[in-house]
Amino acid sequence: MSDLYDVVISGGGMVGMSLAIALARQGMSVAVIDKTNLSAQVQPAFDGRVSAVAYGSKCILDSIGAWAGMTAEAQPILDIRVVDGDRPFFLHYDHKEAGDVPLGYIVENRYIRAALQQAASLLPTLTLLDNQSPASIERDDVSVTLCLHSGQNLRCRLLVAADGKTSTIRSMVGIDALEWAYGQTAIVCTIAHEKPHHGLAQERFLPAGPFAVLPMQGNRSSLVWVEPEDRIPLYLELSEEEFVQEIQERVGNYLGTIQTVGPRFTYPLSLMHAKSYISHRVALIGDAAHAIHPIAGQGVNLGFRDVGVLSELIGERFRLGLDIGGDDVLASYQQWRRFDNVTMLAVTDGLNRLFGVNLLPVQLMRGFGLWAVGKMPPLKRFLMRHAMGLVGDLPKIIKENHWH
Ligand SMILES: Cc1cc2nc3c(=O)[nH]c(=O)nc-3n(C[C@H](O)[C@H](O)[C@H](O)COP(=O)(O)OP(=O)(O)OC[C@H]3O[C@@H](n4cnc5c(N)ncnc54)[C@H](O)[C@@H]3O)c2cc1C
Repeated sequence: MSDLYDVVISGGGMVGMSLAIALARQGMSVAVIDKTNLSAQVQPAFDGRVSAVAYGSKCILDSIGAWAGMTAEAQPILDIRVVDGDRPFFLHYDHKEAGDVPLGYIVENRYIRAALQQAASLLPTLTLLDNQSPASIERDDVSVTLCLHSGQNLRCRLLVAADGKTSTIRSMVGIDALEWAYGQTAIVCTIAHEKPHHGLAQERFLPAGPFAVLPMQGNRSSLVWVEPEDRIPLYLELSEEEFVQEIQERVGNYLGTIQTVGPRFTYPLSLMHAKSYISHRVALIGDAAHAIHPIAGQGVNLGFRDVGVLSELIGERFRLGLDIGGDDVLASYQQWRRFDNVTMLAVTDGLNRLFGVNLLPVQLMRGFGLWAVGKMPPLKRFLMRHAMGLVGDLPKIIKENHWH
């Protein structure tokens, strides 16, 4: 005996849950399974990270009814400053040059998850099954069945893998991936500071790795501090006073005196790109398809754009009574999303390599590059709109909600 759905999604993180809501709002019956307890995902200890939610992603979250639940916690990004180590040249983006809307928003992941779970709980055709994991997959011409370790079988037209970088579904259907470890780990923690940040996000490229200060609501910021993995134990063992001193040296004085709030989280960094996003009646989205370096704060934004595209493509077929999991729709999804994802993957990988080089000629070239971008308004505006998620072949969900 199987339970019958239009779509089953494995992975109820930020990306999987967004897709589930986008589809259920169009009338599809959707089941989401997750191996964790979903209520644990919104606890502070589960994930210490924030996400820089690009303006285009905010449009998606808004149109699926989830933005309202996190807006009180969302800090608008009004300026971005990119600094190369201690060098005098830096690049400055001002939201006023982008049409006077915020460049994006910083939101704690736990609040994004909470708002998505709340929006999901209001949809009668959406079933959430937590503490569940897949045991096997069975496929025929017209359907796919996800068999869970609990013994429950979920039959549907389309199975979506949103189960993150180490996707079990991706392995089960035999999709290979290009993968490498950066040998870097991100230390993430929240700081409270004396002076206001005025919505400024600062990214400083240091030889050891990027160091980002991301503004949160109030006089607080989140740090993403990337270091070679062998140095991480050193920083984790520092006393609070020594740790704050290291941070203060990297942040500088623009925020006044600093203190840490809460624990130090660590995230080892690696790249992963699935060789295909699709298999018969299966689609990969979010980090299950592509996981990138956090240097530009774009990972989950790519996942939200996957959601926008896949929900548009299968929504159209659902309304016409056509097969929502057929090979044609999956091929269209892959074709639409691959270019954007590969571009961002290459850019973030390249930036990490470029700014990791400490040779003087390379430093001079980088300084010139940052200065030159600042002096070329059309190029600067293009890069700014790219970071806002407003460039390329956008799904309707962004186009129709843009500037509203
Ligand atoms: C330090 C750091 C900072 C970052 N900052 C940003 C940023 O500012 N902006 C940005 O856009 N991106 C950022 N990212 C990237 C972003 O966090 C990821 O792209 C995003 O979390 C991917 O979401 P997801 O839902 O695809 O996958 P995940 O968050 O990995 O969620 C996967 C879900 O699947 C579930 N799952 C896993 N395995 C199974 C299984 N076998 N069965 C059932 N369920 C399963 C998990 O429990 C989880 O709920 C950052 C990443 C790092 C490491």
